[in-house]
Amino acid sequence: MNSAESNSSTFQNSELEIIKKSLLIQKSEILNKNQEFKNLQNASAKAADEVDAVVQNLQDNLNIQLHERDHLSLMLIDKALSKFSSGSYGQCDACDEMIDLRRLKARPLATLCISCMEDNEKSSKSATRSILQ
Ligand SMILES: [Zn+2]
Repeated sequence: MNSAESNSSTFQNSELEIIKKSLLIQKSEILNKNQEFKNLQNASAKAADEVDAVVQNLQDNLNIQLHERDHLSLMLIDKALSKFSSGSYGQCDACDEMIDLRRLKARPLATLCISCMEDNEKSSKSATRSILQ
């Protein structure tokens, strides 16, 4: 919080502000959806007696998958938002370079610049291959 090294233009700041707002909207949408989802689950729990156990089981699995994806999205959104507060949003996790603003607008949750992402994809592909073989 000491001497601000603000060499980022006001143009870029306003662009980042738009990205931050879209993240906040995304977050509230997920939270709202999960609220509706809980209501739905309560409703289906009441009808469970009449539902075949297999069908119920399948539905539970689907619900868990949806929930996990939302959970992951929320985690990533929170991570990005905390970077906004610390002023490090937009920096590549691997090389500390600023991520291209166009990339951030398309993928606001990106934590790697394009070249680090490509490196990362190569290594994660080979990791997946080694697990599969
Ligand atoms: Zn990088």
